[in-house]
Amino acid sequence: MKYGPGRSGLIMEEPLLWEKGRPGRNGMSIPDSDVPDAQLAADLCGEGPDFPDLSEVDVVRHYTRLSQWNFGVDTGMYPLGSCTMKYNPKINEKHAASEGITSAHPMLDDEYCQGTLRIIYELQNYLAAITGLDAVSVQPAAGAHGELAGMLIFAAYHKSRGKKRNKILIPDTAHGTNPASAALCGYKPVSIKSGPRGILDVDQVRELMDEECAGIMITNPNTLGLFEENIREIAQIVHEKGGLVYGDGANMNAVMGIVDMKKCGVDVLHLNLHKTFSTPHGGGGPGSGPVCVVEELAGFLPSPRVVFDGEQYRLEDERPESIGRMHCFHGNYGVLVRALCYILTMGAENLKKATQYAVLNACYIKVKLKNHLHLAYDRPCMHEAVFSDKKQQEYKVTTLDIAKRLMDSGYHPPTIYFPLVVHGAIMIEPTETESLEELDTFIEVVKEIVAEAKSDAELLKNAPQRFKVKRLDETQAARQPCLCG
Ligand SMILES: *Cc1c(COP(=O)(O)O)cnc(C)c1O
Repeated sequence: MKYGPGRSGLIMEEPLLWEKGRPGRNGMSIPDSDVPDAQLAADLCGEGPDFPDLSEVDVVRHYTRLSQWNFGVDTGMYPLGSCTMKYNPKINEKHAASEGITSAHPMLDDEYCQGTLRIIYELQNYLAAITGLDAVSVQPAAGAHGELAGMLIFAAYHKSRGKKRNKILIPDTAHGTNPASAALCGYKPVSIKSGPRGILDVDQVRELMDEECAGIMITNPNTLGLFEENIREIAQIVHEKGGLVYGDGANMNAVMGIVDMKKCGVDVLHLNLHKTFSTPHGGGGPGSGPVCVVEELAGFLPSPRVVFDGEQYRLEDERPESIGRMHCFHGNYGVLVRALCYILTMGAENLKKATQYAVLNACYIKVKLKNHLHLAYDRPCMHEAVFSDKKQQEYKVTTLDIAKRLMDSGYHPPTIYFPLVVHGAIMIEPTETESLEELDTFIEVVKEIVAEAKSDAELLKNAPQRFKVKRLDETQAARQPCLCG
């Protein structure tokens, strides 16, 4: 069996600290006390916690081993489609941790934090330049939070025109968070079926768009990794009926530096700094989903906004049309610093190159694997390629089996069973930070698994085999989760 790089050295067995503890073992050696013991009143100290007795090295090894069970972009390729698990450059961390930033207090008056406000202001400007849109707020803390801000802006805009609308068009290839965000703002999502080429059909939109619709939410590129080619025509139809166009730009890494979203007709768009702009994510850590709008909608952006009045950076909060706060203080500030650092260290040329490599890498995987896994739409893809288990059905091997077997080879599984429009989907996003050699090794591993599906399907059915935790009963895990270990 082929392994991905870094496969060996995973420690699979580690007892609990309670099992390792031995009575009387101690974490430090200090000389005996030369003063008499003082008796404290029993009600002051009580029984004390029932902790195991351990030495320092016991504890250090335990936690170091546990930390190595983790899988992340720093340990190997992470082909999780639609998540953009690209490498996070360490220089971003260095700057985010610099003392001027970590010790700045968020309640300082503007005049004492010109530098930290400038970081937000410059980031806003760069994000505007990258998307083509005019005004930006970096408050939202995640992609879905940016969508919520965007939908609140839609609602505020329609309200300001005296026309409350109650529906919104959302393609079946949109990200799952889109209908949820719209529904939170009182919009009923109306699903549009994508056409036979995997993208939106203009006539369908024309048929469904009416003056009850607040607008449309388009994920571009969509979750099939395909570019919505008709976006301008669709935007025109939506605008003619008084609606707005929302662009889900979480996966801007497929178009950054190449596509101007404003020229596409997009009015509001969110970005995921924790995808496109290389800030760490996964595990529910802090993210950032800035929301970007055209000039006409700038007044509705969350408050306060960082502005520059020619002399000073200021937090402007007298903004009567604003949808209000989306986050305390300035948003997830450390993430903003990392993203600005990424943009500045890359420069315009390299940001564009990152996009080109992201697409090239996905296309390479698509072409190399399409004779082995069924390709959902045999068309030029953007940053990700969507396959399915159709070819493996005759061996009764499913997408889940393939994903689990990949773990045995040292890879994080790709996104599976999403998007829903592809039965048994396997969605692979290699990102631009993987080298040709890494991609080739991954491709070889997938090919080997596909061959095993034919020769020894049981191997896949019983995967993963090299882990402490074997295949979970997912139904039981969902229905009766045991959360207390
Ligand atoms: C990841 C993603 C989101 C959601 O972003 P979160 O930060 O996870 O809330 C929304 N849309 C698309 C297309 C995405 O890929």
